[in-house]
Amino acid sequence: MPKSSTSLLDNMIGVGDMVLIEPLSEDTFIENLRKRFEHNEIYTYIGSVVISMNPYKSLPIYTAEKVEEYRNRNFYELSPHIYALADEAYRSLRDQDKDQCILITGESGAGKTEASKFVMSYVAAVCGKGQEVNKVKEQLLQSNPVLEGESSTSSVFGKYMDIEFDFKGDPLGGVISNYLLEKSRVVKQPRGERNFHIFYQLLSGASDDTLKKLKLDRDFSKYNYLSLDSATVNGLDDAACFRTVRNAMQIVGFMEDEVQSVLELVAAVLKLGNLEFKPESRCNGFDESRIKDKNGEYLKEMCELLGIEQSVLERAFSFRTVEAKMEKVSTTLNVAQAYYARDALAKNLYSRLFSWLVNRINESIKAQTKSRKKVMGVLDIYGFEIFEDNSFEQFIINYCNEKLQQIFIELTLREEQEEYIREGIEWTNIEYFNNAIICDLIENNKNGILAMLDEECLRPGTVTDETFLDKLNTVCAEHQHFESRQSKNSKFLTDHSLPHNCFRIQHYAGKVLYRVEGFVDKNNDLLYRDLSQAMYKANHSLIKILFPEGNPAKVNLKRPLTAGFQFRASVGTLMKNLLTKNPNYIRCIKPNDKKAAHIFTDSLVCHQVRYLGLMENVRVRRAGYAFRQAYEPCLERYKMLCKQTWPHWKGPAREGVEVLLKNLQVPAEEFAYGRSKIFIRNPRTLFFLEEKRRQ
Ligand code: ATP
Ligand code: MG
Repeated sequence: MPKSSTSLLDNMIGVGDMVLIEPLSEDTFIENLRKRFEHNEIYTYIGSVVISMNPYKSLPIYTAEKVEEYRNRNFYELSPHIYALADEAYRSLRDQDKDQCILITGESGAGKTEASKFVMSYVAAVCGKGQEVNKVKEQLLQSNPVLEGESSTSSVFGKYMDIEFDFKGDPLGGVISNYLLEKSRVVKQPRGERNFHIFYQLLSGASDDTLKKLKLDRDFSKYNYLSLDSATVNGLDDAACFRTVRNAMQIVGFMEDEVQSVLELVAAVLKLGNLEFKPESRCNGFDESRIKDKNGEYLKEMCELLGIEQSVLERAFSFRTVEAKMEKVSTTLNVAQAYYARDALAKNLYSRLFSWLVNRINESIKAQTKSRKKVMGVLDIYGFEIFEDNSFEQFIINYCNEKLQQIFIELTLREEQEEYIREGIEWTNIEYFNNAIICDLIENNKNGILAMLDEECLRPGTVTDETFLDKLNTVCAEHQHFESRQSKNSKFLTDHSLPHNCFRIQHYAGKVLYRVEGFVDKNNDLLYRDLSQAMYKANHSLIKILFPEGNPAKVNLKRPLTAGFQFRASVGTLMKNLLTKNPNYIRCIKPNDKKAAHIFTDSLVCHQVRYLGLMENVRVRRAGYAFRQAYEPCLERYKMLCKQTWPHWKGPAREGVEVLLKNLQVPAEEFAYGRSKIFIRNPRTLFFLEEKRRQ
């Protein structure tokens, strides 16, 4: 009989694989997580899925020795670790030629970004050797600090990185895609949070000389856009981080003048934030905005930095050109509109700079070969967010998380069950909640929330957030009368307790209340053409290419795509890409809300376990078979264990496997013979076979 593996079944520290819990209930599941967490065992399996609990303290489990320990070992051989998953994914990519993706999910603060770094550094440690290969690895790893600015707070953009390998499994390069930078943060930060790290890093870490060139002051309080209440983050050394970022940029391959241009833009955003406006009365009774005299210096410095003619920018904050019926009309901006224009320009400058950085990094790190590549994708996206005040950004982030949950359901729950049916294996269906209807509520082309928002944004006449909400309420509530409880509109919750100007969605992870204020504006993402033209005219190589629509020769009267539309399209592309790859899951869980080590809050963990669908995941896995393999490779691997099958089996592979297992006296209930695959119920049986091979 197969013997048990101590690492997976050690009761002192809980069970390593949830599939082996006896009896299985939500309580025993949580208890197991707690027990392991208390023993610093932060990883636990559900079959091949890795659950990762954030320890909120550094553990000595990511050393070079650990890497060696997990290298080339079978998944269930050692105690659960993120390295085991990374190793498994890398080896199937290298040896079986299957493209992989690592999907890291969990709510904000659960440890996704950390997990993605562990996976990347593990893969970097075990793949290929040599000077050329090392350079590629170094560049891939250093792309992180450039984009994250050595961040220690929440991710403010979604990132997907394809790491490319050659046929031997040596790294060739990579491609990064970024998703929706939370650009509103440039001009206004959520309470208690900072602006993007780079602003503080630049002011703290740049040399006196650099600051002088950029005409910046070290004092954060001089800049309107920098929130003061959390300007310094505990344990974060901005000056040291700045050196890391500078160094990383150099390794990734940025030229000195490119770095300089980037810093000039960052400085320009800070100065832009300091422009203030005052009304100037006109004889026609309207107020026209003017830059306040005391801010003149900032405007001058900014224009010098970016090579912009001061009068052009000044004008663009007082007037805008409207094109009507082939005619150009100049209208005045009032003070509120001028502030709006200023902030829109700042957000656009920063987010376009960020996209440029991603492209520039890709230019450096992308593989230089045209031959076929093997690919491992690592997805680290912002986690599900529920704040008191949720806006367009949270709506988009949560939509993306719904889509990821969809993939998880499709591939682990549905696919697994369908495979049994396909293979003709007896099977009782297990119920699970399918969130496809929530995705549909948001993304349906006709009457999904994003489509309605777009429709509203494009509608002539007065469009406001309130008119958008009215439309939502009418369309979604109307349908509710006719549809069943499991319809998509049943996830759009209407009740009398809703505060003014809000709507509520029943997400898979919980109910979220969205405040509609700003939806129309953020979706439109308008930048007055006078400003983009001013930027295009700048005598600054980088700015010019960031605002191609400002080229007067290319005036395009078509409206630019809305933010929601673009996001939906890129999420769609991402999902298609992920579905072509073999998925590996890391499900991150946050043990408490205090960012504290040693605290395990049952209710909080329980909530995450529920919405991540982990119980269903274990049930499907338990009711089924932990391991499966096509008959041919299975026979090939184990034929040495039996005289009748060694060295060659003449008949069909399936019969060979039957003979083999009978001969080894493995109990019949441990196996099921599918049409093309053998299914093994218990991982222990697999250990047994593997151990036999080694003897
Ligand atoms: P967001 O969705 O907001 O970006 P996240 O899931 O990416 O959140 P991380 O930034 O990875 O969260 O983790 C938050 C913090 O938790 C980290 O800065 C780190 O301090 C701690 N942490 C996470 N995972 C680990 C780990 N394995 N070991 C030690 N500390 C960890
Ligand atoms: Mg993150």
